[in-house]
Amino acid sequence: MVSKSMEELVSLCKRRGFIFQSNEIYGGVKGLYDFGPMGVELKNNLKQSWWKSMIYERDDIEGLDASILTGSDVLKYSGHEDTFSDPLVDCKSCKSRWRADQLDNHNCPNCKSKDLTEPRPFNLMFKTSIGPVDDGSSYVYLRPETAQQIFTNFKNVLDSTNRVLPFGIAQIGKAFRNEITPRNFIFRVREFEQMELEFFVEPGFDDKWHKYWVESRYNWWKKQGIDEKRLEIQDIKKDELSHYSKATVDIVYNFPHGKEELEGIANRTDFDLGSHTKNQQDFKISSNVMKNKTSTTKLAVQNLTNKNWFIPYVIEPSAGVERGVLALLNEAYKVDEKNSRTVLALKPHLSPIKAAVIPLKRNNEKLVNQAKIIKNNLQKIGLGRVMLENSGNIGKNYRRHDEVGTPLCVTVDFETLENNTITVRDRDTMQQKRLSSDELKNYYENYFE
Ligand code: ATP
Repeated sequence: MVSKSMEELVSLCKRRGFIFQSNEIYGGVKGLYDFGPMGVELKNNLKQSWWKSMIYERDDIEGLDASILTGSDVLKYSGHEDTFSDPLVDCKSCKSRWRADQLDNHNCPNCKSKDLTEPRPFNLMFKTSIGPVDDGSSYVYLRPETAQQIFTNFKNVLDSTNRVLPFGIAQIGKAFRNEITPRNFIFRVREFEQMELEFFVEPGFDDKWHKYWVESRYNWWKKQGIDEKRLEIQDIKKDELSHYSKATVDIVYNFPHGKEELEGIANRTDFDLGSHTKNQQDFKISSNVMKNKTSTTKLAVQNLTNKNWFIPYVIEPSAGVERGVLALLNEAYKVDEKNSRTVLALKPHLSPIKAAVIPLKRNNEKLVNQAKIIKNNLQKIGLGRVMLENSGNIGKNYRRHDEVGTPLCVTVDFETLENNTITVRDRDTMQQKRLSSDELKNYYENYFE
């Protein structure tokens, strides 16, 4: 059974230390959230799974970690200064503010008045000054997406790795958008993380690669534990495409609040490298780019057969980490009424805690010491966090770890001290097995393989 409501997920997240409202003790700030002890592990595991699938399991993608503060030239030539905006309307009656494209029937959702201002563009970028003098002349932005610094580093990565097309550059990191109406828990927030790949291809091969990445990304989400019943591939209609896009496909998930975008995969043509390159006039740039006389670097490659220089096309799969976490929590959350427990049936590679080692009796020195040894041995294997749970009451510990998704609980009891055996309990089946401590390493490794 999938979670009934967003409220249940929000409540689980707070109760078990996944996600908290940011600045909560001062009343909170809208659109900002903090990831707690369980949330940070889940989020890191999701990012690591993406990184592995992009960089380690392939041979055509390099990683990058660029600065968050981004110079204004980058976001001028990318088009963000002029066009990265949402249409904002004010309600003249109750003074609330809304995104015009998200209103039903041109009504104020707050007071139902129809007395709204005309929509006007509201730029979503956060601007801040840089350097000691704040006279408004030297400013930078908190990046609204991770992509732009991938484009500006195109030549650096190419030259330092000797790559030839097709190849990609991947990055995970924070992005910031001053959303007019943040809502639906961590679905639409003002500070979030993106997992973005920019995959560079020769023009003419772009359609094929676009199709390839849509399929590949869809399958990746399934492997993370998302049921295809709640996953959809949607082609964005031609008249709704961003100005730079030749084709965009959204991977849409059926969130507790409705079907919405989890990841977008766009064919961005030569717009990005064409916008940021020096000597634009030397290339046949197919998209409509702003004249750039500031860039110092040619962002082009040479066709090895005919020796012509050209600007690569870009295929961009761009996924939100928070939206991924929300979808995964929604998938994993199960109320097991028969056994009166709540279970977070996360895929083991995503579970915040891989195993909890529990001494049967709290503060019993012999049991606790033995449990510590077992904990350290499992921790050394390096698959993620292993936890020593020295709080007594085995039943309560099992329930707690079911609820945060710990796949295995290892119990150390008095028999352990006699014959060096432990019990391993499986989250999903609730079955317990008695094993010799020496077999545990193999059992644990095989389980997570
Ligand atoms: P939306 O239409 O929902 O505002 P978008 O089309 O503007 O999203 P993109 O610019 O394509 O989003 O960003 C890529 C990904 O980043 C999205 O698929 C989403 O997962 C994530 N993302 C974008 N904006 C937010 C946000 N405000 N909060 C959380 N995640 C976001």
